[in-house]
Amino acid sequence: MTDCIFCKIIAGDINSVCLYEDEYVYAFKDINPQTPVHFLVIPKKHISSMNEVNAENSQIAAKCLEAIAKIAKDLKLEAGYRVISNCGADAGQTVFHLHFHVLAGRPLGEKLV
Ligand code: AMP
Ligand code: ZN
Repeated sequence: MTDCIFCKIIAGDINSVCLYEDEYVYAFKDINPQTPVHFLVIPKKHISSMNEVNAENSQIAAKCLEAIAKIAKDLKLEAGYRVISNCGADAGQTVFHLHFHVLAGRPLGEKLV
């Protein structure tokens, strides 16, 4: 998608701080961190949101989850972390390329769920 900011990050047209990359997945620091550790894990293939995950592409979404587990180990997030994927207006999704926020580095406080 030419007008997608995260596709541009994957292509290297917009700078990012990469934490992990493989054939299917790209992970980078959130530009506006909400916690001491806050990064985003995205599929290299453009999928707009959780709503567009289906039988054809769910393996790619699963690759993101595998990457999260790997990065969490690499970053030694033994104390824990939270994974969030905002989908749609009520969730406050602002970038329409599927992404998983990973938040860590301090107690995350009141639980939403
Ligand atoms: P969401 O609101 O769930 O769609 O999350 C989008 C996230 O992308 C926000 O946390 C932004 O801070 C983050 N973001 C937007 N542009 C960039 C960028 N160029 N580099 C890193 N993170 C970004
Ligand atoms: Zn995209």
